[in-house]
Amino acid sequence: MPEMPEIQAHAERLTEQFAGRTLTKFTPFNFTALKTAVPAPDVAYSHPLLEVDRRGKYLLLRFDPAVFVVHLMQGGRLVPDDKLSLKPRGGQARFTFDPVERPDGSLDETALLLTEQGKERRAGVWCLTPEDALTTPPLVKLGPEAATVTDDELAQLFAANSMRVHGFLRDQRMVAGIGRRLANEVCHRARISPFANTRKLGADGAAAVAAAMRSCIAESLEFERERADMSSSKDRPSAMHSRTGDPCPDCGDTVRAVSYSGYTVNYCPTCQTGGKVLADNTTSKFLK
Ligand SMILES: [Zn+2]
Repeated sequence: MPEMPEIQAHAERLTEQFAGRTLTKFTPFNFTALKTAVPAPDVAYSHPLLEVDRRGKYLLLRFDPAVFVVHLMQGGRLVPDDKLSLKPRGGQARFTFDPVERPDGSLDETALLLTEQGKERRAGVWCLTPEDALTTPPLVKLGPEAATVTDDELAQLFAANSMRVHGFLRDQRMVAGIGRRLANEVCHRARISPFANTRKLGADGAAAVAAAMRSCIAESLEFERERADMSSSKDRPSAMHSRTGDPCPDCGDTVRAVSYSGYTVNYCPTCQTGGKVLADNTTSKFLK
């Protein structure tokens, strides 16, 4: 799933390409694509797109009368669409804009298409008034932005929520924008075990995690801004994530894994757990 840096860089690219274009139509291609009934999307028709913004892992298409909040989930993408076919493959919804003339005189009719691969159909669009966008679902549930949460704010959240730090980082209600890859990278950068309890980390632990979030996100954002389109997870640089068996780039120890049904926790024993190798759920049953 794309995380904050991928979504942020994508929002910036879409703003560059689409800001100022006038919305003429919003077309959902199935009944799950639009998650809201009021206001109707047509309140934004004939209004220019102000910008594509971001909150957590959500894209926000801002028009004066309405904000379209888009969640890509696992396999969703919001992509420029110049084919404009009636039934686009994997199509969930389309934003159609007034054609604009290119410098060479040709007409640019490019739309924005929300696609989702697979059968899950979990990507979606919420149409909200600008006043309600931040105070109603889905955005109201989000914690502070991972890139800008202060050391003190994080220390307070750690003290109030007794969780494994890796799970805390992936929980969008705690901090918004981090997923499986960055959770692995941040714990390693902070030199903290992914299984450390947030309540026991204290102010120093919170400061280390907050600093690691800022630097890991800044690096990923720099990488992502160099690209013409959103990277896939295998393209993204990592020290720990998906590196099981590789040497740690900082100390040379072997990167270890603890696997769960939906994700894998990667860590370096020397950097993070005082050299202790934790039991891997997937392999330990064969060692009994
Ligand atoms: Zn290491």
